[in-house]
Amino acid sequence: MSIASLYVDRQVADLPETRRICSRLGMPAAYVENAEQLYADLAAAEDPVGSGKKRLFLTRNKGAFLKECPGTRHYTCCGYRILHIGSYCIMDCSYCILQAYFHPPLLQYYVNHEELFRELERCFGARGIQRIGTGEFTDSLIWEPWTELSRTLAMRFARQDRAVLELKTKTANIDGLLDLAHRQKTILAWSLNTERVIHSEERGTASLGARLRAAARSAEAGFPVAFHFDPVLIYEGGEAEYRQVVDRLFDAVAAERIVWISLGAFRFMPDLKAVIRKRFPGSTIIYGEFIAGLDGKARYFKPLRMQALRSLAQAIRRRSPTTCVYLCMEDDEVWRHALDVTPAERGGLARMLDEAAVKHCGLQAEAGGR
Ligand code: SF4
Repeated sequence: MSIASLYVDRQVADLPETRRICSRLGMPAAYVENAEQLYADLAAAEDPVGSGKKRLFLTRNKGAFLKECPGTRHYTCCGYRILHIGSYCIMDCSYCILQAYFHPPLLQYYVNHEELFRELERCFGARGIQRIGTGEFTDSLIWEPWTELSRTLAMRFARQDRAVLELKTKTANIDGLLDLAHRQKTILAWSLNTERVIHSEERGTASLGARLRAAARSAEAGFPVAFHFDPVLIYEGGEAEYRQVVDRLFDAVAAERIVWISLGAFRFMPDLKAVIRKRFPGSTIIYGEFIAGLDGKARYFKPLRMQALRSLAQAIRRRSPTTCVYLCMEDDEVWRHALDVTPAERGGLARMLDEAAVKHCGLQAEAGGR
C-alpha cells in the first residue's frame, strides 16, 4: 500500500525532517492550517479507516513522546514504555485495534524530533532499566522508506547502557539498520502468525518467510531479536499450525539471540467488531467463543485460551527451554496453566523482562531498579 496524499501541518513545514520526507516522497503536499478540517474530511470518506492509511499527515507531537504502555490494572502488565513517533499503519490487519482507537484514524508522523530526543535524554538519566518500543500505535518499520528515525534512534540508544529500544514490525524493512554499530541496544522484533492467518487477516504485511529471513539477517548482524505471537487465534487445526511456525522460527534464528517471545490471545474492544464486519466481511475471527474480560474487551473463553497458549508455549520450550516467554495481558491462572509459573514467582513480569534485556542487550543498570 502506498501514500496517496501528503499533508503537512503549516507549523512544521520548515523542520528538517519535514523537508527530508517531502523530498523522498516526491509528491505535492497540501499545507494544513487547521487539522480539524483534515479530520472532518477523512471522517466523511466512504471508508475512513482504509482512507486514513493512504493519507500521511506530517505534524508535531503536542503531547509527551514517552508514554506508559496502556496496560490495565486487571491483568499482568510489563512496565513497557512507548515512544510515540507516529500513529496508524499502511498495512491492514483485520484485528488491528488502531482501526477503532483513533477517531478518525489517520497516518500521522511526528517531525519535532528535537523534542523527542530531549525527552529521551532525560529518560536515559533515570534510574533502573527502561524498555522502550515504538510499535504500539504504529508499526515501527513502515516509516523506513521515507525517514531515518529508526537508524538515528538505534545509534542514540547505542551510546548508553540503561535502556533498550524494541522495534516491532510485520515488515522486512531492515536494510537500513544492518550496518549499524548498535551495541545490542536495539531489539528487532517480529509479530508472527500462521501462514493461514497472515494470508486471511493481515493484508499488505510481509510473508512469514520474509519476516523470518529478516529476523535471521538481523541476528547475523548481531542484533538481539524478539517475537510476538499476538494475536493467537483459535481455529481448527490452529495448534498444529502455530507449532509449525515455532519450528520455522527456531530453524531460522539461533535461540541465544532471542531476548523474549510474547504470547497474546486475540482480544478486542466491542467497537472493533462492527469495523471488522464492514471492512473484512470474509473474516470469521469475531465469531469464536468470547466472553467480556475485566477490561471490557472480548476474550476467548478462558479454558480455550489457556489450552492454545499452553500448546504454543510448550512448542517453544521444546526448542528452547531457557528463552524468556511471557503472556500479554493475562492473569495468574492463565500464566500457571500455560507456563507453569506466575510472574510473582519470578519476581514480577517487569523484572523477568529486565533480566532478559540485561542478559541479551548488555544493559548495566540493576534489574528491577525502576
Ligand atoms: S501491522 Fe500492526 S499496526 Fe499495522 S495494521 Fe497490522 S496490527 Fe495494525
